[in-house]
Amino acid sequence: MRSEGLLLVISGPAGAGKGTVVGELVKDENIRLSISATTRAPRGQEQNGVEYHFLSREEFEKMIEENGFYEYAQYVGNYYGSPKKPVEKWRSEGKDVILEIEVQGCKKVKSIEPGCISIFIKPPSLEVLEKRLRGRGTETEEVIAKRMARAKEELLLAEDYDYVVVNDALEDCVADVRRIIEENRSV
Ligand code: 5GP
Repeated sequence: MRSEGLLLVISGPAGAGKGTVVGELVKDENIRLSISATTRAPRGQEQNGVEYHFLSREEFEKMIEENGFYEYAQYVGNYYGSPKKPVEKWRSEGKDVILEIEVQGCKKVKSIEPGCISIFIKPPSLEVLEKRLRGRGTETEEVIAKRMARAKEELLLAEDYDYVVVNDALEDCVADVRRIIEENRSV
């Protein structure tokens, strides 16, 4: 049996395609995705307990007080956090756990667990990023502008990550990330 699973932190600006990449990775039964909690409203077809646990600010703050998060951060006006219990349980079962979180969260995880593996998914260009964000058709101009501004800041932090992978062709990006996981599993 495998010993404790890896803790993988995957970040990248909204629209870089992280979600799609992660969706491919979790087809491996040894990899689990942590479902975050957030105070933002569901987008499009998102369902409670599937993409996120959607909480009120009061519920979220209560969970902070109860020390229920592995890490949490504020992003464009909302709270986002990774519930602690499932992460610990899966890792103790030998599963690798992915936290798909933004850059402040990654810093916190690194400080708690220096052995985590951090991967930054980059869009091929800012133009492509904006096109992908608009293509979703679920956000207002104001939110798109805020997310683009935040994306520019985040791209500057890519070099703090253990690995940077460009998501130009999805298959290549997924193959690169799988290779990174394999390499680290055998360490
Ligand atoms: P979105 O609103 O587009 O789903 O997510 C916005 C940002 O929050 C993304 O960069 C996403 O990776 C990040 N995020 C999602 N869940 C968490 C979390 O639990 N903790 C932190 N720190 N960031 C998160």
